[in-house]
Amino acid sequence: MSHPNCLFCKIVAGDIPSKKIHEDDEFLAFHDIRPAAPVHFLVIPKRHVDSLLHVQPGDEPMLGRLMALLPRLAREQGLDGGFKTGINTGRDGGQEVDHLHIHVLGGRKA
Ligand code: AMP
Ligand code: ZN
Repeated sequence: MSHPNCLFCKIVAGDIPSKKIHEDDEFLAFHDIRPAAPVHFLVIPKRHVDSLLHVQPGDEPMLGRLMALLPRLAREQGLDGGFKTGINTGRDGGQEVDHLHIHVLGGRKA
């Protein structure tokens, strides 16, 4: 479930600090350490999933809840006018941290 060498599993466990903006039983959201926009946060399932390439049958409800959480968090961060989302997947998709995460970017020149 929790992968010992996974950075984001360590953040979920509290072993590495993060600037959390949301936490519930299933998901964690925290500010990206190298923001690419005035507002830039990541939303992750607490359960380790490597990437979209590793999504399994049965994960659909979790993915739906994850997607539905984004506008709520974006509004809470002041992004009432809209925001960008991004999911990097796999080596060829530019994924650097192998724990599924959605980037949410907004604010000026998002
Ligand atoms: P990706 O290329 O989609 O895997 O992006 C990984 C993201 O995680 C990058 O935008 C990093 O800036 C971000 N990141 C890496 N380490 C941390 C950390 N300790 N806390 C918050 N964000 C991080
Ligand atoms: Zn992980």
